[in-house]
Amino acid sequence: MQIPEFRNESITDWSKSENRTRQDAAIAQLETQFGVEYPNIIDGMHAFSAEKFNTLNPSQPNQIVGVFQNSTADDVVLALKVAADKFEQWRWTSPAERANYLFRAAELMRRRRFELNAALILEVGKSWGEADGDVAEAIDFCEFYGREMLRYANQAPAIQLPGEKDELWSLPLGVGVIIPPWNFPLAILTGMTAASIVTGNTVVLKPASDSPFVGFKFMEIMEEAGLPPGVINLVTGPGSTVGDTLVKHPQTRFVAFTGSKEVGVHIYEEAAKVRPGQIWLKRVIAEMGGKDAIIVDAETDLDEAVEGVALSAFGFQGQKCSACSRAIVDEKVYDEFVEKVVKRTESISVGPAKAFDNFMGPVINKWALEKIQRYIKVGQKEGGRLVVGGTSAPGKGYFLPPTVIADVHPQATIAQEEIFGPVLAVIRANDFDHALEIANGTEFGLTGAVYTNNRNKIETAKLQFQVGNLYVNRKCTGAMVGAHPCGGFNMSGTNSKAGGRDYLSLFMQAKSIAEKIE
Ligand code: NDP
Repeated sequence: MQIPEFRNESITDWSKSENRTRQDAAIAQLETQFGVEYPNIIDGMHAFSAEKFNTLNPSQPNQIVGVFQNSTADDVVLALKVAADKFEQWRWTSPAERANYLFRAAELMRRRRFELNAALILEVGKSWGEADGDVAEAIDFCEFYGREMLRYANQAPAIQLPGEKDELWSLPLGVGVIIPPWNFPLAILTGMTAASIVTGNTVVLKPASDSPFVGFKFMEIMEEAGLPPGVINLVTGPGSTVGDTLVKHPQTRFVAFTGSKEVGVHIYEEAAKVRPGQIWLKRVIAEMGGKDAIIVDAETDLDEAVEGVALSAFGFQGQKCSACSRAIVDEKVYDEFVEKVVKRTESISVGPAKAFDNFMGPVINKWALEKIQRYIKVGQKEGGRLVVGGTSAPGKGYFLPPTVIADVHPQATIAQEEIFGPVLAVIRANDFDHALEIANGTEFGLTGAVYTNNRNKIETAKLQFQVGNLYVNRKCTGAMVGAHPCGGFNMSGTNSKAGGRDYLSLFMQAKSIAEKIE
């Protein structure tokens, strides 16, 4: 069968009332299932642990979205053993067969789009548009990596020496451990898992503890797609116990992680230790945090720059690795920028994510709320000027207003540490070169953008702005699979470039075969 060329999945058109009605219905339907208990899935079978934990709706935390298993070390070891046994069969399946499971999963996600959107809206507080974008990206990962596997399987042969047949095979690694974050609970979970299995590995998947329900939905889809039991095994529970056991176990061949710098560094260190019985060096794919900046030059359309900054800073409450948390503005337009950004920020609506009209929903949990509040206070204590927002917003959920702190020193805490909330630091720069110097002055290097009409400055930024994903005259969020392979520099991670053409090679090892034929 001819596979059509890859195209990014389109987003839902909310101007159509039928789509809004269907989304409302899917949310209402999911609300009727609140409080249900969900099992681990090991070798295709439902498994239960003695202890449980709940996930809450951050827009209304008295609502329990689901009850999940607090897995024990024994559960984890069993899941790894099942994955290791299954690997001996799965590794021999053809790339085409493996790719087909992803294509089927993509189709099922399309059919269950509103249901999946509802899961994201209710479990992590994504607005409708953000939830829909997350699901579209998950579909893209399945479609893109499926095609990529077929491309690797048909890759050009090695250079042929006279008298030899020379080949290079791409082979799976073994058992992988998948540790995603809660902020793209479907897209990133799907992307890391799909890349692992389509290349012939088997995995143990541990979703983030704020979003196991979305992880369970993914498992339902893979089962419906006909994926054999044991290829993906789901265990839920705290990263500090379940995740740690998975990372340290000698059976683990690789770890695909996306999350904070602190946890990423810890995993990197632990995975590097060779443990008794271990016969390989573990491979670690770790994508981590950011302190992303948008540079606003004096030679630019200021309204466009303000729009780009506001969308990048406050979309999904600033809880994106790519979120703009620093606007670095040329002093010639600084005051005007601050005035305009305040006005734009005041127009942003905050409230329960299930209401279509709210641009911003809640932050993920109480701990995050309090941490962000502390950063807002520290920002002011260190000389920042709160120009809009603050530490509280009305409502029962974990709501915060979009907040802008101006006159922030480039070395201030809120200009250096990832806040992961709706807080924008505005920093004054003497000129464009100074702005670049400030932008590069953190330990991170994930995304960045520049707004300028000056071609020379654009070319300078292309050379000098030290980020994995640079955007020119547009927002710094919203990387599209295929077009914008995503992964940062420095403490933003291992630069694995999710959604890019090199990505699958990280999940494989190559075998060169030279056969004498004369
Ligand atoms: P965390 O680092 O807190 O958690 C990520 C995952 O790691 C979770 O599944 C978590 O489990 C698990 N974990 C926690 N401790 C351990 C441990 N000791 N060993 C193994 N696993 C562990 O990140 P968040 O989920 O809060 O996600 C937000 C972060 O992710 C931000 O820093 C953001 O920038 C980053 N991110 C980076 C992206 C990129 O492409 N660079 C993309 C998206 C997000 P549990 O939930 O149970 O604690």
